[in-house]
Amino acid sequence: MWAHTKETQDKVTPQMALEYLKEGNARFLNNLKASRNLLKQVNQTSDGQFPFAAVLSCIDSRTSAELIFDQGLGDIFSIRIAGNVLNDDILGSMEYACGVANSKIVVVLGHSKCGAVIGACSNYTGGNLTGLLSKIKPAIEKETYKNRQNW
Ligand SMILES: [Zn+2]
Repeated sequence: MWAHTKETQDKVTPQMALEYLKEGNARFLNNLKASRNLLKQVNQTSDGQFPFAAVLSCIDSRTSAELIFDQGLGDIFSIRIAGNVLNDDILGSMEYACGVANSKIVVVLGHSKCGAVIGACSNYTGGNLTGLLSKIKPAIEKETYKNRQNW
């Protein structure tokens, strides 16, 4: 598989981008990786990159977007932070991906048993993690409130 060029990226629609990710995930789930020469892709992207997607995912070692979506070098912007929290820097990265570099889709990839969410639920505090986990707490409070209303 070749790295995307400006010409191939320009032809990708948001729906196509979603399909590329779904197809890649199906390959991943079936342990059928696309054949890629990553060193060749390094050379193909040395003068520029034309990723078709931006993926916000957790730093969890099991959630590498490139692996889960079976994508190569130059295919996706991979934005990673514990718990997928948003801040101005993450939003700026997404704005760059779509507004400047012409990516067609933004995906927020959550996962089960997220240590950041577990830490926020258990009121973990320590160092800079305290501030990061505090960004998750409003979602926990909303979910808890919603569940109380259903009782
Ligand atoms: Zn996580």
